[in-house]
Amino acid sequence: MKWVWTSSRRGLLRQAGMLSAAVSGLAGASSSALAGAARWVGSQKSVYRELGVRPLINAAGTYTALSASLLPPPVVRAMEEAARFHAPIPELQAAVGKRIAALTGAEYALVTSGAAAALLQATAACVAGKDPEKIRRIPDITGLKSEVIVQKAHRVAYEHAIRNVGVRMVEVETRAQLEQAISERTAMMFFLNFADPKGQVKRREFVEIARRAGIPTLLDAAADVPPQGRLQEYVRMGFDLVVFSGGKGLRGPQCSGLLLGRRELVEAAYLNGSPHADSVGRGCKVGKEEIVGLWKAVEYYMQKDHRAEWREWESRIAYIAAQVASIPGVKTETFVPEIANEVPHLRISWTEDRIPMKNAQAADLLRKGEPRIEVRPSDGKLPNLEIGVWMLAPGEHKLVAAAVRQLLLQQSRKG
Ligand SMILES: *Cc1c(COP(=O)(O)O)cnc(C)c1O
Repeated sequence: MKWVWTSSRRGLLRQAGMLSAAVSGLAGASSSALAGAARWVGSQKSVYRELGVRPLINAAGTYTALSASLLPPPVVRAMEEAARFHAPIPELQAAVGKRIAALTGAEYALVTSGAAAALLQATAACVAGKDPEKIRRIPDITGLKSEVIVQKAHRVAYEHAIRNVGVRMVEVETRAQLEQAISERTAMMFFLNFADPKGQVKRREFVEIARRAGIPTLLDAAADVPPQGRLQEYVRMGFDLVVFSGGKGLRGPQCSGLLLGRRELVEAAYLNGSPHADSVGRGCKVGKEEIVGLWKAVEYYMQKDHRAEWREWESRIAYIAAQVASIPGVKTETFVPEIANEVPHLRISWTEDRIPMKNAQAADLLRKGEPRIEVRPSDGKLPNLEIGVWMLAPGEHKLVAAAVRQLLLQQSRKG
């Protein structure tokens, strides 16, 4: 991918100025601000503009509907290479499975078309195993293990992927209820990683109960890297199957997911999906580009300097905060979500007597600007904006700072 650069600083700023006042406000700006502006000048010739779709600056996070994350250059290169030659998918999956297993310390790994697809195929593995006749029958699971146990606080919309196998969710709250719910019908026990603080049975206890009963466990940790250690931690803790999204914090292809865990089960998950035509997961096909792309993304992720990256995020936050802090009525603070998207975010809040603007209105005005800016969705009640800086491309934080500053000043009560 190549962004179009104009030759002169002034030319760039003139074009950028046509994009928006926010960008033109960068006259005399530093080179990283110019890099951010150049990207947006370049976007004028993108496939998105050709389609009449305005691209966006992602100051929100790895939201699927906002197209999640951007691929690092080594991943783009690997996918481009993969696109130029044919290769047998079973051999590719096996080779990449081995490589990712070695990188993460899991017994085995499978590239799926997303974390949700991994939930589907993992559940199918627990219900049908490697039995071709059972694999074909799903979602008719008459006579097979048909229940998945889940804590009430761990119910989540993505669970639809699990139910697609035909299983029934059995909801429990206490440890005693959990133990009582286990029967010969239990196919699997499901744990939603970010719900750990809310549920009564915690990770280790959950794994221990399942182990004793001989029931496989599935952990959904889709949005839970960083920190990097999570890629090893949960398999080591004893979860049989662990799911991560490939297109979120790992910054692999948006249509990729990672299933890590015990070899028998991960192999069974593969048999319950593409390229096997008569399987429940056939609709969740991954191609050579995603398989190779996710492998490179995991490799890149394991090698990169996570501390330097964290410092970069903090410096983006400090920059944006400094641009708005002096506006009367405005306050800023940094926060890090406890699990899921565990990276520094900026909260900018204001008092409505000074700036009579609701949260949703602020988000909407940023969305309507050029470049279009998306911030983190919130409940819309408090007058504030939550800004995720980790999905911004280099220099874009300066465009966000300029746009937010301009918005707050415009909406401020005069006098
Ligand atoms: C995003 C997410 C998923 C789905 O991930 P995809 O890779 O988009 O399929 C599943 N579970 C949780 C908790 C998520 O945050």
